[in-house]
Amino acid sequence: MDISEYINKVKSNEIDIIEHTKKVIQECRKINKEYNYFNVISEELALEQAKELKKRIKKKDTKGNLFGVHVSVKDCVCVKDVESRAGSKILFGYRPVFDATVIQKAKEQGAIIIGKTSQDAFGYGSFNVNVGLDFKIPKNPFDKERATGGSSGGAAGITQKLDLPHIAISESTGGSIAAPASYCGVIGLCPTYGRVSRYGLMDYANSLDKIGVMSKNIEDCAVLLHVIAGHDNKDSTSLEEPVENYPEFVNKKSRLKIGIIKESLAKGIDPEVKDSVLNTIKKLHDNGIKTQEVSLPLVFKYGVQTYYLISLTETSTNLAKFCGMRYGYEEKLEGNFNEYFSKIRSNAFNREAKRRIILGTFARMAGFRDAYYSKAMKVRTLMIQEYKKLFKKFDLLVCPTMPNVAPKFYEIDKLTPMQNFMMDIMTAGPNLAGFPHLSMPCGPEDNLPVGIMFTADHLEEKKLIQIAGIIEKLK
Ligand code: GLN
Repeated sequence: MDISEYINKVKSNEIDIIEHTKKVIQECRKINKEYNYFNVISEELALEQAKELKKRIKKKDTKGNLFGVHVSVKDCVCVKDVESRAGSKILFGYRPVFDATVIQKAKEQGAIIIGKTSQDAFGYGSFNVNVGLDFKIPKNPFDKERATGGSSGGAAGITQKLDLPHIAISESTGGSIAAPASYCGVIGLCPTYGRVSRYGLMDYANSLDKIGVMSKNIEDCAVLLHVIAGHDNKDSTSLEEPVENYPEFVNKKSRLKIGIIKESLAKGIDPEVKDSVLNTIKKLHDNGIKTQEVSLPLVFKYGVQTYYLISLTETSTNLAKFCGMRYGYEEKLEGNFNEYFSKIRSNAFNREAKRRIILGTFARMAGFRDAYYSKAMKVRTLMIQEYKKLFKKFDLLVCPTMPNVAPKFYEIDKLTPMQNFMMDIMTAGPNLAGFPHLSMPCGPEDNLPVGIMFTADHLEEKKLIQIAGIIEKLK
């Protein structure tokens, strides 16, 4: 059932929203026992909202583009009164007293929030195995010995596994929407930087963070994005341009010209991934879409390094506010401030957070700042220029989302930190440059999912929605 059909049935009371919400929660609990997709299932809030909608149905007051739609929320996005921890122990017990703008907007359109989904703590990772201390690692919906991908692994997993209408609110800094969408076989759309308000998002890296969406089909994705996008006075980086009517583009025909990124299909890519991606490109070509090979040498040579220098520098300052005094995890107040602060941070940050604080602090230290952080910012500008040249001729660029299919947990354990970072080879570029990008499944039918990723110029989300609509119909 697609979202519009579902909403109509809720509005006409053909689906009883209270009973249905109970069923959704029950199903989520069942899945969660085995797969660990939720850090919190917010049953009370969901039922409260369902009852509210029921009253409105009785009064025939059923306006809302998400009327009765169940929405899960990545843990780093604040939901009023629901424990929101960005997957980290350091925020244990933290219940925001406000809603993030995206949540406020979704609720205004009648969405029902069902819970907070698992993530690598603060978004640090590509596999969702760097969960905070005391959290459980989510498992891939196709094979429990494999990872969901990260950092939005819970969002991707539940989107795949839940067989009832549902859309996920998720977040990407360097690939956290695309990567898990690819491994879990769902659609993930990360919008242009600034298109969706970041107010109420717990920062990873301010110049990179974007809130986006995940769903099983492109229409659902477009509907939710349309609701949450737009200018917000509470976020100074939010864009003022009007929001286009995204759902309209799902079935729109137009000539798209696509550049196939040469470097993304070179050595080191899993042959199965390469075949599936090339197969889909061929089908597009056979359907009259123009494709041509293009090159992004700078992005592929320096994208990952530049991304990590910038993101870690920014994040090392963002984490400074977690000191165990203002919110979240605390211990018995002992010693002077520095002693207390160190104890809290030693006990509640996981290894990956500590690694990133150290690396990021190093990159912005007096004496190193110019050589690392400032230089990375300049390289970032050059990369944007490299992309912009291509967008003069092409509507979209295409590549695999990840170099591989979902790895097994024991394989991940063997990776060095550097090998972990290299997993972002495809996604670092568009994220650094703030370009909207979309990952969607592209086969094979009989094995683990493979993701194909499209990148568009700033504010061209509509083209991503169009191409996804076209691919859905190819199947
Ligand atoms: N894998 C990347 C990282 O670890 C991206 C994560 C993200 O987008 N939050 O930083």
